[in-house]
Amino acid sequence: MTDCIFCKILQGEIPSKKVYEDELVYAFYDIAPAAPVHVLIIPKEHLCCLNEAEPAHKALLGHILLTAKKLAKDLGVAESGYRIVNNCGENAGQTVFHLHFHLLAGDTFSKLV
Ligand code: 5GP
Ligand code: ZN
Repeated sequence: MTDCIFCKILQGEIPSKKVYEDELVYAFYDIAPAAPVHVLIIPKEHLCCLNEAEPAHKALLGHILLTAKKLAKDLGVAESGYRIVNNCGENAGQTVFHLHFHLLAGDTFSKLV
């Protein structure tokens, strides 16, 4: 998608601080961290949000969660704990419409649910 910020990051048109990359996903530090550790994990395929995910994306979605687990370990927060957040749509506060999962850690978080 030409006007998508995260697609531009994937194409290297907008710089980002890479944490991890493989054939399916890219992970990078959030530009406005909401916690000491704040990483975004995105699929290389452009999906606006979870609403666009189909059964064909099952492996990709599983891979994203396992990547989050791996990065939590690599970043040294697996034991202390971390939170994975996906905001889907306006009411959830989604601001960038390329599917992404926040990996938040290094702090304690108030519980919404
Ligand atoms: P959302 O609010 O859509 O769930 O999350 C979007 C996230 O993307 C926000 O936490 C915001 O700080 C981050 N973000 C927006 N633009 C950029 C950017 O150009 N670079 C990086 N690294 N993060 C960005
Ligand atoms: Zn995109």
